[in-house]
This record gives sequence, C-alpha cells and structure tokens, in this order.
Amino acid sequence: MKFTPIFDHKRPILIAGPCSAETEEQVLATAHGLKDSGIQMYRAGIWKPRTRPGAFEGVGTPGLKWLKRVKEETGLPVTTEVANAQHVYDCLKYGIDAFWIGARTTVNPFSVQEIADAMSGSDIPVIVKNPVNPDYKLWVGAIERLYKAGLTRIAAIHRGFSSYGDSKYRNVPRWQMAIDLMQEFPDLEVICDISHICGRRDILAETAQKAYDLNMDGLMVEVHPAPDTAWSDAAQQITPPQFIEMVNGLVRRHTTSTDPDYLIQIENYRSELDDLDEELIAIISRRMQLVREVGAIKKEKNIAVLQPERFRAMREALSRRAAKNELSPEFISMLLEAVHQESINQQEHIMNPQRAAAPERPAELWLND
Ligand code: PEP
Ligand code: MN
Repeated sequence: MKFTPIFDHKRPILIAGPCSAETEEQVLATAHGLKDSGIQMYRAGIWKPRTRPGAFEGVGTPGLKWLKRVKEETGLPVTTEVANAQHVYDCLKYGIDAFWIGARTTVNPFSVQEIADAMSGSDIPVIVKNPVNPDYKLWVGAIERLYKAGLTRIAAIHRGFSSYGDSKYRNVPRWQMAIDLMQEFPDLEVICDISHICGRRDILAETAQKAYDLNMDGLMVEVHPAPDTAWSDAAQQITPPQFIEMVNGLVRRHTTSTDPDYLIQIENYRSELDDLDEELIAIISRRMQLVREVGAIKKEKNIAVLQPERFRAMREALSRRAAKNELSPEFISMLLEAVHQESINQQEHIMNPQRAAAPERPAELWLND
C-alpha cells in the first residue's frame, strides 16, 4: 500500500474538538477557542456509538451544519465519525473534509466494507482508529478494505484497547501495536488519541509526551469549553486554553542528528546492544536444549509436560529478582510466559513428534504499560 499524506508535516499534526457536538453554540465556542492554537483539523462526534443505551447518542445530521459553520468561520477542516454508509453520504453532502472510523466500527469487517464502498471514488481522507480489542490484523484489515476501494489518503489513530479490571488508563495503550504499524507502513500517518487512552485529564500531558517520544505523527485531543458539563466523556476533556498550554509544554524530539559526537556514541551503544542480543539468543537456545532433554526424560517416565507448581515457583523467584535489577514485574512475567510457552512447545514436539503441531503463541506478547 502507498498512502498519500493528509496532513502538513512541517507543523505538529493536531486534531482537537469536543467528544460530541452538543449545541451549535458549544461547537462554535470550542472552534473559536482552538482557531489560533495551531490545530490542523477540528473534530466533533455527530453520531456517538455508546457502550450502553440511554447515554447521549449524538445530535445526528443537524450537527453537520454546525461543522460547516466551523469551517466557514475559522477556515479549519472538519472531521467526524462515520459508522455506516448513510453517515458517509450525509457528510459528503455537507462538505465534511475527513472521516474517522471509530474503534467499535473497526472491529466489524461488514461495517468497514460498507463504509469503504460508500466512500469509493471520492479519495476523501479517512482516519482509522484501532479496534477496541488488541487485534493488529483487524486494524490493518480495515485499512486494506479502504485502500482496495481506491482510497489513498488514509491515516491511523491509536486510541488504546479495552481491558477488564483496574488500570491507570481507560483504554490500555499497548504502545507496541502502534509501533508495529508505524514500522510496517512507514508512510502511514499514525496519530495518538490521548483522550480515549487516558479517560482522565490529569495524565493527558505525560501520555502526549510519550506519543511524541515514540515518534508518532500527532495527537487527537478532546476539547470542550466546559468539560465537566460535557454530555459525553466529561472526565477526559480539557478547555481550549488548557489544550494550548499542554501542547506548548510538549517537547518534539528529532528523529536523528548529524552531530558526529552523537553518531559515534550511539554507534558504540548499538554495537554493545547487538552483542547482548546475540548472547541472549545463545542463552535461550542453551535453555531450550536443556528443556528438550527434560522432555526426553519426561517421555521415558510418562510425566506430563506442564508442571504448574514448578512454573509458579519460577515466576515468584524471578519477579523478586526483577525488582532488585530495575526490571518491572510485568516485563518479567511476560518474558517468562513467552519462554515457558516455547519450552512447552519444544517438549510437546519431543513427546509427540508425529503430530508436530503449529507452535502456540503466548497469549499476551504485546507490550503493556
Ligand atoms: C470518539 O472519538 O469520540 C470515540 C467515540 O472514540 P473511540 O471510537 O476511540 O471510542
Ligand atoms: Mn469521546
């Protein structure tokens, strides 16, 4: 796939505006508050996919006129979420400049295909949010459906992933998935929606900085003139002045430098890291050799491959060590799970060579925060 850029890369790529268009006054007040903030596009949700019924589900098509006014009064291009073909036709009628596909729509290939077919022939910019669940292929698949419909002005939005249980975030970022996307498609613009990742305003700035540090192309931020009274996503919205202050406080890092000192130092570190990685592979391969030997003994004595007690004891011993070595327990747990899964695969192979099943992947290999 070869994408055409949607945004101006000489300036930070910022998209901001309210979660939902509520009234014409609120939409215009937000837009005027953001007019000189340097944003490249104004956002507002017209149709709101809500998790549970009864919540505010958006003002619908009348809101499109308000967005048209934003464009006329501020000169800002405008974007809204589309979830079906009718939304696309309505937006095209009102001159909406770009569409985004929400996380609850990206999960459904039928919906994405319907939207792609409706947009076909227009080459209108479309920004694809990641699906609610951490399924990389589903995200890429949605982008492919649009591309196959003839669209090339496609970008992606990383907005985090649903999870069950307590987390600092509303949607856990699993940054690695955005990094993988950027690596696989270097010319795809990848924007970080910090508002839906955080779900709360006190950690927006640190999350925005992290997105910049990972070299993401830009940010989408929900901005409202009176956030606490917002009809949706009140806890995560900020006012236009707060948005401007946050953005001014961010440090945009360079991708690289031509400073010879920097280049020499970084080269030295990199060759040391390469050596360590090689050692790491050698150690893991020695470990797997032993695992295969254990597998052979277990087979002889007819003992099960999985020994939960042993795994639990290993996990506990190693997480205690992690803390002493400046490693997070989450990292150790993931590493151990991956090594353990590969050990099981290798022993399975020794026990049942005739079956040679496809190796299983550890359930959670994505880096979590
Ligand atoms: C939104 O941007 O307001 C929205 C509904 O986002 P998401 O699809 O990421 O939940
Ligand atoms: Mn929202």
